[in-house]
Amino acid sequence: MAESLEDIVRDILSCRNCSLYLTKKNYVPGEGSEKAQIMFVGEAPGREEDEQGRPFVGNAGKLLTALIENELGLSRKDVYITNILKCRPPNNRDPTEEEIDACFPYLARQIEVIRPDVIVCLGRHAAKTIFEYFEIPFTTISKERGVLKEKIVDGRRVLFMATYHPAAALYRPPLRQVIEEDFRKLRGLIKRKNTTLFDFFS
Ligand code: URA
Repeated sequence: MAESLEDIVRDILSCRNCSLYLTKKNYVPGEGSEKAQIMFVGEAPGREEDEQGRPFVGNAGKLLTALIENELGLSRKDVYITNILKCRPPNNRDPTEEEIDACFPYLARQIEVIRPDVIVCLGRHAAKTIFEYFEIPFTTISKERGVLKEKIVDGRRVLFMATYHPAAALYRPPLRQVIEEDFRKLRGLIKRKNTTLFDFFS
């Protein structure tokens, strides 16, 4: 039988692939629709996410939620939101390569089950990790942001887009406009077709 999101969540909730399970409060597997056309991937849970076991529920999450609602006209339950790492690194330090390698298979499985039309990478770490995995060249977030990249994944067209992490806009407010601009590119795609987002390619 095909795997479901619950299968993946169950595996995450007992994961000991790296040592972060020792310091985390809660695993943060991700949340949203199994049928999501758009998937958002951040770096790793922060303090609030670790407390609640839910992704993007702190201040950066509030901004992400507002962008999804205001710029895309969608709600959090229409999309899928997760992170590269499913456990919080102590003091929000950057993920190590070992942690990314240990955790990435969960994200790969989430992508296989959800089969999103678009994967939005939030911030440099998420973008670099995801682009490298899907063999998309990555330079810097400032150069790659807002550019839609098409890739065939499991025989389907998938679009990848990097943008700044919403947390970056909290300490550099002008970045909010840049992220909004990137989100408006996604809105343009949604409006072209309601049923399957990216049929316009064919
Ligand atoms: N930052 C992230 O990258 N992910 C979260 O879930 C929250 C903040």
